[in-house]
Amino acid sequence: MKCNEEFAFADIQARVKLGEIPPHCPCGGVIKPDITFFGESLPEDAIEQARREAAKADVMLVLGTSLTVQPAASLPLLCLKRGGKVVIVNDQSTYLDDRAALRLWSLEDAFRSEA
Ligand SMILES: [Zn+2]
Repeated sequence: MKCNEEFAFADIQARVKLGEIPPHCPCGGVIKPDITFFGESLPEDAIEQARREAAKADVMLVLGTSLTVQPAASLPLLCLKRGGKVVIVNDQSTYLDDRAALRLWSLEDAFRSEA
C-alpha cells in the first residue's frame, strides 16, 4: 500500500499461514491483494476498458451480483444497448432480470459438471 512493490501469492500465503496478519512489506507498508474491495474506487482505466468490452460483447455472463453497485451495475446495460445478450445467474433479483436472455438463480446449479 506504500511503495507498490509486488509479491508472489505463494510467498504471502505462506507468511499469512505462519500468522503474519496482515503481511507487511520491508518498507513498513501493509501488503494488500491487487483487487478492489467494496467501498474502494475501481481504477479508471480498468472501468473504461470494461465499458468498451461490454459495449462490443455478443454475450455477457453476469454472475453472483445483484447489480446494485455502480459502476459495474451498468455494464450489462451497455451490452444490451448494442444488441448483445445477457445471462444472469444470481440468487437475488436484479433490475435486468426481465431483459436477460437466460435467467438462472443458482451458481452451483448453473456450473455443476454432470458426471
Ligand atoms: Zn513496501
